Amino acid sequence: MGVLKSKYKIHIVGAGVSGLIAATVLEQKGYHPIIIESTDRVGGRVKTDVLNQIPLDHGFQVLLTGYPMVKKYLDLKELQLFYFDPGASIVTDKKKMTIGDPLRKFTFVIPTLLSKIGSLGDKIKIVKLQKKLRKKTIEEIFDSEETTTMEYLKSCGFSEEMIKLFFLPFFSGIFLENELSTSSRMFEFIYKMFGEGYAAIPKDGIGAIPNQLKAKLKNTEFIFNTEVAQVADGHISLKNGETMKSDLTIIATDANALVSNLRGQEILWKGCDTLYFEVEKQDSRFKVIELFANEEAIINSVFSLNDLFEWNNPNHILSVTVVKKHKLTTDDLIKKVTQELNMYLELTKVKFLRNYSIKMALPDIRNVQNMISPEETRLTSRVFLAGDTLLNGSLNGAMQSGELAAMGVINLLEESQDLAQFTSEYI
Ligand SMILES: Cc1cc2nc3c(=O)[nH]c(=O)nc-3n(C[C@H](O)[C@H](O)[C@H](O)COP(=O)(O)OP(=O)(O)OC[C@H]3O[C@@H](n4cnc5c(N)ncnc54)[C@H](O)[C@@H]3O)c2cc1C
Repeated sequence: MGVLKSKYKIHIVGAGVSGLIAATVLEQKGYHPIIIESTDRVGGRVKTDVLNQIPLDHGFQVLLTGYPMVKKYLDLKELQLFYFDPGASIVTDKKKMTIGDPLRKFTFVIPTLLSKIGSLGDKIKIVKLQKKLRKKTIEEIFDSEETTTMEYLKSCGFSEEMIKLFFLPFFSGIFLENELSTSSRMFEFIYKMFGEGYAAIPKDGIGAIPNQLKAKLKNTEFIFNTEVAQVADGHISLKNGETMKSDLTIIATDANALVSNLRGQEILWKGCDTLYFEVEKQDSRFKVIELFANEEAIINSVFSLNDLFEWNNPNHILSVTVVKKHKLTTDDLIKKVTQELNMYLELTKVKFLRNYSIKMALPDIRNVQNMISPEETRLTSRVFLAGDTLLNGSLNGAMQSGELAAMGVINLLEESQDLAQFTSEYI
């Protein structure tokens, strides 16, 4: 008996990037999925608020244009990206030094040569590392033996000073932890992506990414403000007590609380605070992130939205990220960050705008992966898993996981001898 593809009730729990990609892939194959999302909008951890026309991202994050999944699923032109220069400013005790890749931006030559960050040997090792990672494929990176990023950097022979002044603040801001205990696979992958593309933010903020994905979905139904309590074969129980029939379900979020007897372990999370300020500040020569390398500083990094987005306004909007764990109240955190902006960047006129405290920003996972087979995303006979927790904590990992789970569903339906068994009309 033939069953119309659009008749299958395929639910996706979660409208984050992984859920949206799963819907995209299902739609491409003719299915009409239904996304159930507990909040009122798409994006999950990728969100932007607008305050007086200023896009304020929920936590500082960048789109790396080198990500294979970004090239596959996003229309970068439509996103109107603004690119960071391939470099960084290092802030220590009132001194600021800028370093960058002179091969990609020539004006970095002089400041990089003059900077006291790293020895000549360190600079040669950076070039060598770039060359090595350009040749190493992503598959080879994720097949490599895993160690911590700190161990990896030491084994590359970088000086303690180079690690302390550059790698530690830079990658603490990316991995959202201060020990560089994150997998060396993730370090190699991200470093390669920085070398092969640019870090960018869309004109309307990072939330433009899920908004674009949603806008391209034509046959997907969205059910917002609806929290799923449990997922089992054939049905979904909602927090409000209702039950929905579901032929196949993709859980595009942490599944531990949703599926009973799950074999996975509880996921640990890393968090951060991102605070926005309005300050009186000069435009910078470079569009770079300012990294706070001083051990005492609570600030990890700062960037000016005006510099990045080329706004012509004497009052700059600063995005400040704090990665260090702390027990400060919001008021005390604002006070401390304000003091540091004054002390390290000599900014005196500082007006606090908003604070985002994100407890569950990145999953803390070992044995990070980039690729598994679509069948491996299958949790039970009718339930599949997506989400960055499945592979690695990144936009690329989230997108890849969504694609794999959707392929798992599609393969199952298309290879099944008795398709009718998966259609709720026949249950
Ligand atoms: C501060 C921060 C900085 C980051 N920096 C970067 C970066 O620079 N580069 C990069 O590549 N990545 C970065 N990331 C990681 C990237 O944002 C994530 O990997 C990605 O967004 C995860 O998407 P997801 O779909 O897997 O999960 P989520 O975005 O968490 O989506 C899950 C969705 O499911 C919904 N949901 C959960 N439970 C239920 C339920 N019971 N019922 C219904 N709905 C439910 C949630 O509301 C959410 O919308 C950063 C993340 C954060 C937070």
